[in-house]
Amino acid sequence: MLQNILLRRLSATNRLKVHLDLFGDFKHNKFHINSVFNKSNKDDFVEIKFQGKSLRFPNVWLRDNCQCEQCFHQSAKSRILDLSKFNVDVQLKTVVQDETTVQITWDDNHSSKYGLHWLKFRSFTPEDQLKYTNTLYQPVKKLWHGEDFQKICSKHDYNKIVNCDDALHNWLQDLATYGVVLIQNTPHSNIALDGIIERVGFIKRTHYGVKFVVENVANTSNVAYLSSNLQMHVDLPYYEYCPGVNMLHCLVQTVSEGGENLLADCHYTSCYMKEHHPEEYKLLTETDVEWSDVGVEHGNEFFKLYRSPVICLDRHGAVKRINFSVPQRGSHFPGSIETVKPWYEAHGLFYELNQKFAAKFKTKAGDILVFDNIRLLHGRNAYEDKSGNVRKLLGAYVDWDEIYSRLRCLKAKLYPVEGI
Ligand SMILES: [Zn+2]
Repeated sequence: MLQNILLRRLSATNRLKVHLDLFGDFKHNKFHINSVFNKSNKDDFVEIKFQGKSLRFPNVWLRDNCQCEQCFHQSAKSRILDLSKFNVDVQLKTVVQDETTVQITWDDNHSSKYGLHWLKFRSFTPEDQLKYTNTLYQPVKKLWHGEDFQKICSKHDYNKIVNCDDALHNWLQDLATYGVVLIQNTPHSNIALDGIIERVGFIKRTHYGVKFVVENVANTSNVAYLSSNLQMHVDLPYYEYCPGVNMLHCLVQTVSEGGENLLADCHYTSCYMKEHHPEEYKLLTETDVEWSDVGVEHGNEFFKLYRSPVICLDRHGAVKRINFSVPQRGSHFPGSIETVKPWYEAHGLFYELNQKFAAKFKTKAGDILVFDNIRLLHGRNAYEDKSGNVRKLLGAYVDWDEIYSRLRCLKAKLYPVEGI
């Protein structure tokens, strides 16, 4: 059974808010439909009741998101309507609803049809928008102190990730949430990392190669390739498109003292600083730093520079990216001379707090330590190689774009939501 509402043509100053107050028993066609005039509201909306909730959708949005073949390419899943002919003042002519769809005829006689579940999934209510943002868009980050590291660092099995989508999903979900996970029982092979990364997407290639070997090297191109203390840092802050996730496969761990990893959640540290040291926090969010890496690797010259603060915020004030590296901080200071010393004090405090909040642990052969390179600082205590025991890690980067993309594909497949 369909319901038709013929709406009067309206002048621009007397627009209509349509209230389709649909409730009751669809099988018995008991509908209550109200039209509500709203002279003060500049925009027009269609309002529907679905699953006991009232949902409003702007006319202009509905018209823009018409799913017909003229407006939306089905196989490309992309909008193809002609923007040069698009009317933001588009008006409703008729609205028709049944159990599963809403059909609208517009004032230019174009007709659009929307699934109710499809609309619900795109609901404008703040609670529905938040739910979508925190699930399919990106999982909510949970911040941690080093003392909680054993609880938050989940362990995942290499073969399960390679062979099972549930295991792959759980690994990526934990990584997005806590910024660190451990993969265990990895084969002792130079291509084991590729097996995991192929499950996600693509390796991020940098001037250190497709993959990179971390072992003690004299005359190195990077201080990470030494056995002395490696101060906590993020990798490659001098890249505007900084690698999102770092994967370190431990092939050989040192049996001697040292070689422990240090990891600190800078989102936790930033939160702490914002509350307890607001001035220092502000300086670190506002002062540009020039990150740099200059040299030659595998015969390729590089001269990388990128300016960005230590703590980068998005427009909501949430931490978006952390940049920190003593060796990779350039000597050009792009700010005023007065800001230099206060900035150094804030920068020192940030590091001190991260050391205080850091977790310390030692990976073993067969572990892949996976961590968020734009959220965590990582470092390593000094160690000593001995004959027959040369510490060796193999590393690779993957971008968050690839990880979030795979995670969404898996969610859509494993936990389908109607209307997705
Ligand atoms: Zn259309």
